[in-house]
Amino acid sequence: MKTTILGYPRIGKQRELKKVSEAYWAGKTGKNELLRIGRQIREENWLLQKNMGIDSIPSNDFSFYDQVLDTCLTVGCIPKRYSKLKNKTPLDLYFAMARGIQNKDIDCTAMEMTKWFDTNYHYIVPEFEKDQTFEFFSTKIIDEYKEALELGIKTKPVLIGPVTFLLLGKEKEAGFHRLSLLEKLLPVYFEIISQLTLLDVEYIQFDEPCLALDLNEQEREAIKSTYEKINIKFPNLKVFLANYFDCYGDNLNMVLQLPIDTLHLDLVRCQLQLNDILKSKYYKNTKLSLGLVDGRNIWKNNFDDSLQTIELVISKIGEENIWIASSCSLLHVPYDLDLETNEKALTSEIKQWLAFAKQKLQEIRTLKGLASSDYNEFEKEFKYNKIAHINRKESTLIHNENIKKRVLSLTEDDSKRKSTFKNRQAKQRLALNLPLFPTTTIGSFPQTKEVRSWRSKFKKGQLTQPEYDALIAKETKASIRFQEETGIDVLVHGEFERNDMVEYFGERLNGFAFSSYGWVQSYGSRCVKPPILFGDVSRENAMTVKWSAYAQSLTDLPVKGMLTGPVTILQWSFVRNDQPRQITCNQIALAIRDEVVDLENNGIKVIQIDEPAIREGLPLRQEAWKTYLNWAVKAFRISASGVKDETQIHTHMCYSEFNDIINDIAAMDADVITIETSRSEMELLDAFVNFKYPNEIGPGVYDIHSPRVPSIKEIEYLLIKAKHVLPKEHIWVNPDCGLKTRDWPETKTALKNLVQAAKQLREKE
Ligand code: GLN
Ligand code: ZN
Repeated sequence: MKTTILGYPRIGKQRELKKVSEAYWAGKTGKNELLRIGRQIREENWLLQKNMGIDSIPSNDFSFYDQVLDTCLTVGCIPKRYSKLKNKTPLDLYFAMARGIQNKDIDCTAMEMTKWFDTNYHYIVPEFEKDQTFEFFSTKIIDEYKEALELGIKTKPVLIGPVTFLLLGKEKEAGFHRLSLLEKLLPVYFEIISQLTLLDVEYIQFDEPCLALDLNEQEREAIKSTYEKINIKFPNLKVFLANYFDCYGDNLNMVLQLPIDTLHLDLVRCQLQLNDILKSKYYKNTKLSLGLVDGRNIWKNNFDDSLQTIELVISKIGEENIWIASSCSLLHVPYDLDLETNEKALTSEIKQWLAFAKQKLQEIRTLKGLASSDYNEFEKEFKYNKIAHINRKESTLIHNENIKKRVLSLTEDDSKRKSTFKNRQAKQRLALNLPLFPTTTIGSFPQTKEVRSWRSKFKKGQLTQPEYDALIAKETKASIRFQEETGIDVLVHGEFERNDMVEYFGERLNGFAFSSYGWVQSYGSRCVKPPILFGDVSRENAMTVKWSAYAQSLTDLPVKGMLTGPVTILQWSFVRNDQPRQITCNQIALAIRDEVVDLENNGIKVIQIDEPAIREGLPLRQEAWKTYLNWAVKAFRISASGVKDETQIHTHMCYSEFNDIINDIAAMDADVITIETSRSEMELLDAFVNFKYPNEIGPGVYDIHSPRVPSIKEIEYLLIKAKHVLPKEHIWVNPDCGLKTRDWPETKTALKNLVQAAKQLREKE
């Protein structure tokens, strides 16, 4: 039996790589320092894994920015616009592709970025042209293999498989399919393998997570021929083929027949595949890598359960054919639980349920020990593990019977508004008395350095609560006055009191805990620290009423209450694994519902429930979409349905690829939805138009991702476009998203233009 992981976090225990890269980009530190920190992180990771007893340690899982971008450079897939940089140092080319470059000699946009499967990690999207060629360009994989050899460690280099690499990319011109490039790409892979073989490599890990998706016959065939060819050319190479985040599904029969040494299974996301494999007539003697230790979440492994699985597999295929592994790369969990020493932030009771990356290494080693003759040596660990799980099952911190009952007694009526949209719309018109093409914003106003400094001083105790509150009140008041002067119709309070749209609510609800160093890479140097949703969620006190009611007291115009929706709170947290996500989501929904009702009772007439994460929660395989969308939409409706018809519910989503889920978006039945459309010139509105979306809609007319100020004319042009395809009584006028990342001067001018464009449009009616 061997132990392995598929990859390790690489941002550095104290985010050293983040800090040094940002300093390097800002010209404050040199290349040598950046390279030194990179080397140090790799070494630390390798040596740690070695000390922890990991038998097969990955290399090439390190990255200065992103592993897909690394692969682009490895195979020389470099878009033409960067060709000027090809003879510069590789690192400059690399960062130019990642982040764009603008100086007196060159002005190039960055490559596109998108989410890595269903994670919150973003990868750089490879770009392909019709006459695309490939070459073995960057030797990173070889260099890092050698680097580890020098430390006496013979690693298992990790490569993104050629089919996944192609499928994750994008054709930049019409007239070809990217999969047709496989023939040209494979020779580069052969060259890499051959160089690694010369260095006596034993295993190479090929990541083909596209196997977790619905593949067509041609795509399956591409996988088949790739690994058959590799086997013919390199009969002595041991291929470790990895898929993760879901089952092999319809691809299983094909992969079982591949001439590979080891097949990796994500047994956290898909347990049932193990039985299918062991029973399958296609299963011959491939070794199985049992991905039992969760690489996507922070809970302790349940040794009892894992051991049962391991023992079952041992009885079928023998110890020597088994690997104990993490379910996927540990990239998606924080570094080290031992850093969490602040008892107030993360109590030791909660800590005993958790395992971060370093602890997961230990778990993998312990599982191997427990499943082999070293049992006695690890027996103690097993006992502690059992105690922790019993404690978690019974902890009063986690379990709240009232909430459990409340979720169980939810009825259909709880997820329905009192009347149909048409009836509500009529009543809301009377109650709100808004003009045609009403104007509003998405919630946040600029989070200036000053505003952030107040919060950090308050946290450090340098400002008292009354002092901090007075500053927030002053800023809120100024924002209300500005909106009144500008002529906006539905105002917002500005969200100055909030750090982050999920954290703010997590901190005010029972059931959430926060780590101090639980950083996870999101993209490049950007990291997030997801809240830990460990227990039943309940709300003791109102969370937003104070600032919303204060803002409303300053004006006769309606001020929109501003909440984060249940699906987004769920999606952006480490969520508990001891009950279905759906139940957790309903618990959050009830807390938000109570907040919505409280806002209404405190004179708030318009309430927005943001759900930017509803689409990214979609399962990887389409067959599972329906179940997810049903409960996700329902949770939103539960949160929104406690109010009277006159109260107007808004929702907001900051993207607009809605074509395949528009039915479900409509089923959310928000009175108004605001979406992002300005960059695509309203093209993204098509899904709503074709569907004849029944409720009101605010297609964004101001791209908030850039400091650029849109002119009155541009905004009016977009609105006229919208007016051609939507009933005019349904159109709202608003930016694409919140304005927290913008500065005041550009925000002010842009919003003035936005109001002016709406006015001109009204005059033409
Ligand atoms: N109300 C939030 C804001 O304006 C919405 C942010 C989001 O959609 N991501 O900042
Ligand atoms: Zn948004």
